[in-house]
Amino acid sequence: MISKARFAALSLFLTGLTSNTISGSKEYLYADKDATPVIEFLKPDKIKSESDVQYKLRIRHPNFLEGKGNGPRFVEFYAPWCPHCQHFKPTYIDVARKITDVASNVKFYAVACTTHYDICKDRGVKGYPTIKYFSEGNSTGTLVVRSQVNVKDLMKNYITAKIDSNTDTDKVMKKDSKIIPKPYHGSQIDKTVKTHALTNANANIYHDATSSFIYALHNSIFMTSKTLSNSEADAFETWIRLLSKTLPYTMSDTKNTILLLLDDITGIVQNENIMLDILKERISSQRDKKTSNYENDVPDIASEGWTAACAHSVPASGYTCGLWELFHIMTIGLVEENYKLSKPISTMHAAESLNKYVEHFFACEECRTNFMDMYDSCSFDRCNRLNWNETKHGDIHWKQLPLWLWEVHNDVNMRLMTEEKIRLGLPEPTFKEQQAVVWPSKNDCQVCWNDDGTWQENEVYFYLYQHYWPTDARTVAYVSQKNTDQILITSKNSLSRYLLLCIAMSLFALWLTVRTRKWQKYLTGYHKKADDCCV
Ligand SMILES: Cc1cc2nc3c(=O)[nH]c(=O)nc-3n(C[C@H](O)[C@H](O)[C@H](O)COP(=O)(O)OP(=O)(O)OC[C@H]3O[C@@H](n4cnc5c(N)ncnc54)[C@H](O)[C@@H]3O)c2cc1C
Repeated sequence: MISKARFAALSLFLTGLTSNTISGSKEYLYADKDATPVIEFLKPDKIKSESDVQYKLRIRHPNFLEGKGNGPRFVEFYAPWCPHCQHFKPTYIDVARKITDVASNVKFYAVACTTHYDICKDRGVKGYPTIKYFSEGNSTGTLVVRSQVNVKDLMKNYITAKIDSNTDTDKVMKKDSKIIPKPYHGSQIDKTVKTHALTNANANIYHDATSSFIYALHNSIFMTSKTLSNSEADAFETWIRLLSKTLPYTMSDTKNTILLLLDDITGIVQNENIMLDILKERISSQRDKKTSNYENDVPDIASEGWTAACAHSVPASGYTCGLWELFHIMTIGLVEENYKLSKPISTMHAAESLNKYVEHFFACEECRTNFMDMYDSCSFDRCNRLNWNETKHGDIHWKQLPLWLWEVHNDVNMRLMTEEKIRLGLPEPTFKEQQAVVWPSKNDCQVCWNDDGTWQENEVYFYLYQHYWPTDARTVAYVSQKNTDQILITSKNSLSRYLLLCIAMSLFALWLTVRTRKWQKYLTGYHKKADDCCV
């Protein structure tokens, strides 16, 4: 049975997801004093005399975004889970400090789109972080390229005309200096020490993947308007159809939600509210049941939404982690489910669908660009390894999809570490450090890795399979042959069925032979003489 405390935690998580927020103290990046002079827009308290509608309007249209009475302002629209927003924070604070030192009329604001979803939607924010400049009296704002968020460029392009008359502009511009941020929790540098020690147990993985899936439905599908464009609608439908076929039974709740969405897909792509209603019903039915699909295996919900294995100590970070897990589960699901399908799903179809999903609905701007660049440049031999041809099937071929995604993910892991070392002013990572961030570590899977860093395809697939697929859903038994480079796959069920059939057929054949001989004797008397002779 689910414990009360766990149910309370789960309810809290579900509530958080419904209100488009990651509830808790980690909702904001700039809410602490250290972030001064950046002003975080915190959700205001409701005034007693205010109606619900008035309150909602006040939150949706904060004064600092209106033109009237406001001086020049920079506003960063961000999501706390977005790694590049976390990386950008020290730069934004530093630039804000230096500029406000000399131009006290300029203000720097931050808006967490996860909490203030509608504000960001009204402003057409499609990727995080988005920085906009609002000149005096202006409420529309112009986009500021992130690479230009430095003292020199902001002064030159936006502020010079407005600064205090006695200021030595050159001196201010020279204020640009290299910012050395501290590593944040869950950083890649930490991982070189931890070497992925905190591996996710299966139940946690399905929980975290579900959290990210549901979170994305609430926050990432309808980012800029209430209807989807044709290409967005197509990307969304194709993606959820793929998931409906490739998620394991342990995610049946998610699969059911997907089926409900597919039932009304034409309406949903035209109107976000239809989807939100379906999600609300899902949550209330889970509450009524006072349970969830994790009833028998409730993960340790250490933070709102994501388990400790994903969120580390930063709950908001769980989103991208759960998303990776959802992607990996889907790729293993393709291999496992293709065995059963009369028309297998092609590996290229699944990869295209994933890429389109990232393109349209993954709001971490830089993550999205990097991923799509890798995809478009056929990184890790994608264009040769994956195939459109659905009739060209067989597990060796299908497995290239999970293996390709595994390589892409490891490449991201390595890149993050390199970038972090650069940010911290540390030397380039050594081979040993690089090996420490690849997954699985050599400790976790010795047979996966060769000494020179190359890897064993079948062992890696087997590891991925064990990690991402439910143990009791296995239809195939793997025998890893140590000295050959092969995996022997046999279907336990079909093997035993086949053996039984053979035995039954042999018995039948024996019985038939005996019967036939008796009948021959009876009808023809052919053996009579001989029989008589020998009795
Ligand atoms: C598509 C995508 C692109 C991204 N691009 C960027 C980017 O360009 N820059 C950036 O700063 N952040 C990027 N991120 C976020 C980043 O990859 C991490 O998700 C984030 O830093 C949180 O890391 P984590 O430690 O929780 O583990 P994650 O890297 O999120 O991994 C989640 C879990 O997957 C497992 N895992 C790890 N590696 C592998 C692997 N190779 N194969 C299978 N399973 C694995 C581990 O159990 C791990 O706990 C991206 C995320 C996604 C989903």
